[in-house]
Amino acid sequence: MNGGYIDAHNHLQATDLQRFLGQVIPACEDLGVAQMIVNGITEQDWDRINDLARRHAFVTPSYGLHPWYLKEKQTGWEKRLGQRLIADPKAHVGEVGLDLWMPDPDLSAQIETLRRGLQIAEHYHRAITIHCLKAWDRLLDVLCSGPIPSRGFLLHAYSGPLELIEPFAELGAYFSFSGYFLNPGKEERLAPFREIPSDRLLAETDAPAMLLPDSHSEFQLPPTPDGEPINHPGNIRAVYASLSGLRKVDLSDLVQICAENANRLFG
Ligand SMILES: [Zn+2]
Repeated sequence: MNGGYIDAHNHLQATDLQRFLGQVIPACEDLGVAQMIVNGITEQDWDRINDLARRHAFVTPSYGLHPWYLKEKQTGWEKRLGQRLIADPKAHVGEVGLDLWMPDPDLSAQIETLRRGLQIAEHYHRAITIHCLKAWDRLLDVLCSGPIPSRGFLLHAYSGPLELIEPFAELGAYFSFSGYFLNPGKEERLAPFREIPSDRLLAETDAPAMLLPDSHSEFQLPPTPDGEPINHPGNIRAVYASLSGLRKVDLSDLVQICAENANRLFG
């Protein structure tokens, strides 16, 4: 099976991937990657994402402030985000979110940024991509008490409990599967992906982060100068292959299902 893969969440703009783009982009084209949602983590990323979207038809830009980097947040970001969305009708919001796994989380700043992101996405009728680690009840509170974009939202690399799938889905959630969950010791992360309704399912690499185990990786890149491993976005095909095995659904059917879902959420 070749083609039609949609990477619902990555960071093609990441500094660690820049020196490899000359090989990464042709590899994704050869694979038949149809779309990747490229997510900002700080405002400094936004120009690079915009450039990638202009140069490559398969890049769908998404502008956000990741909870790990909220200290870099600059006054007026909401207005500048709105201007990006007005300038590009295909652009979305994300990633933003809540993270109680990180050291010293500033939960009130995270909640404030998420609420503003949700308001902006709703106002401009865009999707929003949400990062959440160990803050699932808080996230449900925020979603239940504020505006949610009518086209829905993505819970990327969903690692929440089984019992929250239904309430999140009722609010408009889509859930993306990460190849990282195939690593030894992460087996419990696979269980929700057997249960998530087909019409809310997506797949992602989160490249350059969230590596698959070597046994599943189809593409490898040399590590960063600090020795950090780098995930290649072309591994999206391997993520789909694993998810098709997990769901016991044909790969071609899964590609079709995820394409319909991504089209509904991101256009
Ligand atoms: Zn991410």
